[in-house]
Amino acid sequence: VCPTGALVPRSEMDEVLTALADPTKTVVAQVAPAVRVGLGECFASPAGDPVMGRMVAALKRLGFDAVYDTTFAADLTVIEEGQEFLTRAAAGEKLPQFTSCCPGWVQFAEQSFPELLPNLSSCRSPQQMFGSLVKEMLPEKQGIARKDLIVVSIMPCTAKKFEARRPEFAVDGSPDVDFVLTTQELARMIDGAGLRFNSLEPESLDMPFGFGTGAGVIFGASGGVTEAVLRFAAEKITGKPLASVDFAEVRGDSGLREATLEVGGKTLRLAIVHGLANARAVAEQVVAGNSEYDLIEVMACPGGCIGGAGQPVPKDLADRKRRTKDLYQCDKTFPLHKAQDNMFVTECYDKFLGDVGGHKAHSLLHTHYQSRRRVSDETLVLLSGDPAQTK
Ligand code: SF4
Repeated sequence: VCPTGALVPRSEMDEVLTALADPTKTVVAQVAPAVRVGLGECFASPAGDPVMGRMVAALKRLGFDAVYDTTFAADLTVIEEGQEFLTRAAAGEKLPQFTSCCPGWVQFAEQSFPELLPNLSSCRSPQQMFGSLVKEMLPEKQGIARKDLIVVSIMPCTAKKFEARRPEFAVDGSPDVDFVLTTQELARMIDGAGLRFNSLEPESLDMPFGFGTGAGVIFGASGGVTEAVLRFAAEKITGKPLASVDFAEVRGDSGLREATLEVGGKTLRLAIVHGLANARAVAEQVVAGNSEYDLIEVMACPGGCIGGAGQPVPKDLADRKRRTKDLYQCDKTFPLHKAQDNMFVTECYDKFLGDVGGHKAHSLLHTHYQSRRRVSDETLVLLSGDPAQTK
């Protein structure tokens, strides 16, 4: 059950299998950071055991033409959201800035705190940045029609299914992300195809959208978005390379953490929240004018995406901790740790997007929000899957 109450999950496995069997379609996958530390548990690997290489091999055997990493788009998110934060901080406007990469939180804010919507970052989530960018770039690059390119997300999350269906994430009715599978659904497809997951030889991701940095990969854990943005913003503020990329101050298990950092003569006040009860408490503080935070990260699920409703159900808190630890281990073993160092992201701006936060970047990588408080109870039940939320 989705802890965000975001929607009644519907499996799209049949639609994905149909697309994979259609020779006129090019089907690509994007895999979210947290999936790599969750999927292995479905095949009796220890919790948190990263299985990216075997997952790529499995997806290729299922028929995917290319397998990419949502971490690439998380790097893009860091740059766009970090720049947005610096601009707001310089102007002293629309602070605190709330993160917007968790659709469970975005929907909760639209339903319960529409007065805070101007404070949400206008950045799309990494899933949606990936979809819009790839649907713009790949058809031209590969000489195929947009309608024949199918983007399938592998996500730790059921709320991502709702997000992918939002009308603002489509062009002329054609969605940027066609289908969303959860970690558990992918495991069922692998089983259903008779693949022996643990015996597969690892394979590598496809370029260029398969390359991400450690900043993008830690998006999967609570505190990761804040840390990734700090790795970007601190270098922008000081104009100097970071001596260390680790911001241990923002890591931890508590559902509501605070940190105050001095960066280049500026004081940054941060809050990191996971779980919607904690999100409500912080949102109420901001609405009441009792908050001094500059940046607030909100993730709806316990521990962030590593604890998403589409992941294998963790046996205990230790399982969640191991997944988090493994994501930070991935960061350590990745060759690069700052989004601004991702050379494929830089190339993307140089050749396609133009300026960070510029016109094209805005149209493909940003979005807008709407109050859902005034919709009818019936519609709200459909959106939330929870009649209690209509009260
Ligand atoms: Fe989805 Fe992650 Fe948000 Fe949970 S925390 S609802 S898994 S995006």
